[in-house]
Amino acid sequence: MIALSLAEIAEVVGGQMHDIPDASAEVTGAVVRDSREAGPGCLFVAFAGERADGHDFAPAVVAAGAVAVLGSRPVGVPAIVVDDVQAALGALARHVVRRLGATLVALTGSAGKTSTKDLIAQVLRRKAPTVFTPGSLNNEIGLPLTALTATEETRFLVLEMGARGIGHIRYLAGLTPPSVGLVLNVGSAHIGEFGGREQIAEAKGELVEALPEDGVAVLNADDPLVRAMAARTKAKVILFGESGEADVRAENVRLTDSGQPSFRLHTPSGARDVTMRLYGEHHVSNALAAAAVAHELGMSADEIATALSEAGSLSRWRMEVTERPDGVTVVNDAYNANPESMRAALRALAAMGKGRRTWAVLGQMAELGDEALAEHDAVGRLAVRLNVSKLVAVGGREAAWLQLGAYNEGSWGEESVHVSDAQAAVDLLRSELRPGDVVLVKASRSVGLESVAAALLDAG
Ligand code: ATP
Ligand code: MG
Repeated sequence: MIALSLAEIAEVVGGQMHDIPDASAEVTGAVVRDSREAGPGCLFVAFAGERADGHDFAPAVVAAGAVAVLGSRPVGVPAIVVDDVQAALGALARHVVRRLGATLVALTGSAGKTSTKDLIAQVLRRKAPTVFTPGSLNNEIGLPLTALTATEETRFLVLEMGARGIGHIRYLAGLTPPSVGLVLNVGSAHIGEFGGREQIAEAKGELVEALPEDGVAVLNADDPLVRAMAARTKAKVILFGESGEADVRAENVRLTDSGQPSFRLHTPSGARDVTMRLYGEHHVSNALAAAAVAHELGMSADEIATALSEAGSLSRWRMEVTERPDGVTVVNDAYNANPESMRAALRALAAMGKGRRTWAVLGQMAELGDEALAEHDAVGRLAVRLNVSKLVAVGGREAAWLQLGAYNEGSWGEESVHVSDAQAAVDLLRSELRPGDVVLVKASRSVGLESVAAALLDAG
């Protein structure tokens, strides 16, 4: 964080100083909520959670070098005390980003936020120092903590914003007001909680409503609900996508035999060829989004194309491709799943598996509400149409729906297996896999199928 005195922090968050001998003492290190991360110069944020109470760690963090604790009660060591610690953390982030000279880029969408955030960061950091959300820390606590890692040198701050309901993005955009706002897509992630796609669009569009007149809204031309958000912003609009009207678009999109997308990137400042290191055609859309952001921030088509071609995944369990010594390829996409990403992953599997046996080890896509049966059925059917060799459906009712889809589409009997849990899938695969096979592992976060990928790699 930029250096701030305790007096200034107390004023910004409207807090009372307790046990502070010197209010001019400065926080020069990180702002942390995990006591194990406390070090010299840091500010420790104490949340009273259900399982653990951060305040209990106050003496330990001060011993580790923390300048003070930001919490909801006095703790006998230097502390700034507020009623609402989360609101105080937000206020501090808002204060700090105002003082920074950095450009804030915020993005949201149903699928691909983290992948795209990682791409944007890898492109922008070639131009200037860039700070970005680690992993998926995209909520009302993770977002300010990320923003607070920026320093005076930071030029670009790239922030993932997640929404679980109306008003969430408005709140996050209020904490760290972006000048570039990107909306990737409106899919069916969390549709059960929202009630419908229109509500999801309503919530995600809050990002472009928050942009200033001299800001830029970067919108997906291929997604009608996102395209329509152009009417909700005062900012300049730039479109990306495969559609002809997009300002930044891809032509001649194809998947290489290893499943990596290759395309001609068109930007207002020129066209270049890109072949990505990431797997799956869904990354074309993510790459175009990143290219549009980078173009608006002054990067050339050359710089953007090179950066996109060299970018790797920075976050775990997203289409992580590992080749075992025996020639079995494991594609670990177990981080999460929704209908869009299931389809993209299956298509990548099909491209990678040309002339090889392919296995789709799939589990539930959570939170689909009334659409759950139809969506699982459709994925089962797609596996058949893409000529996947074997479907291993893992788990309960939803897995049965996957298998049912495969049966309905192609009368699949032996080609699909339904197993009860991850361990059963591992046992089956261990005995059945042959050198040269390609295995995709994917399900929603709650299913935890990464254990299958890990076991398969151990077995190699
Ligand atoms: P979360 O809401 O969990 O933070 P996210 O929006 O950050 O998710 P990612 O973590 O990037 O999304 O990807 C989640 C899943 O969606 C992965 O399986 C990934 O392969 C897939 N995915 C990535 N980009 C897209 C896209 N543009 N369209 C559809 N699926 C995508
Ligand atoms: Mg994410």
